[in-house]
Amino acid sequence: MKDQISAPVSAISRHRIGIDGEGITTLVVFHSCPLRCRWCLNPQTWREGSTFRMMTPQQLMVSVQMDDIYFQATGGGVTFGGGEPALRSRFIEEFRRIAPKQWKINIETSINVPVEHIERLIQVTDEFVIDIKDMDPAIYEEYTGQTNEKVIANLRFLAENGVADRCLIRVPMIPEYNSENDRQNSITALKALGFNRFDVFEYKKDINK
Ligand code: SF4
Repeated sequence: MKDQISAPVSAISRHRIGIDGEGITTLVVFHSCPLRCRWCLNPQTWREGSTFRMMTPQQLMVSVQMDDIYFQATGGGVTFGGGEPALRSRFIEEFRRIAPKQWKINIETSINVPVEHIERLIQVTDEFVIDIKDMDPAIYEEYTGQTNEKVIANLRFLAENGVADRCLIRVPMIPEYNSENDRQNSITALKALGFNRFDVFEYKKDINK
């Protein structure tokens, strides 16, 4: 416990209702992401020169605890987003340890991370909101610049460990990259893995270009 855990935080957004999980939530946005999605909504989390603050879980607790009463009254809590929050699994694990037990801990992730992070997060996360982009490896790579091998392996890991019910899978229509048919194929593949909760939506293009 000598080595202090810290992580780069780009932003903290309070009093969010029904956007990032049950009840009133505070969104904590971590800096950095291994993907480069064409229509990224949060390029400020990975663009060169973007700003962030290194924080420990204890410092984050000081920043968010004023909303304890809202979290407890509404069944809300803290949602970790990014960037890629799953890479900060040790930070989130420690935050869970020091946070009030009634707070929900949610994570919005691409799960394109080594499986040991997912293994750790299973223990401390109430809800995984997973954006799979598209299950087709070629579409995924073209859109993000990375392969989806880890995504598929981590989906299997989550399902095999009985966590599918805690996962909301986001299946987007990606302008210029996939079709309704591709999206249906993704949903079919996800159902075959054991997932049944989907958020079907459409990315907006040109948001940061
Ligand atoms: S995973 Fe999210 S933060 Fe990362 S590049 Fe894609 S849209 Fe942006």
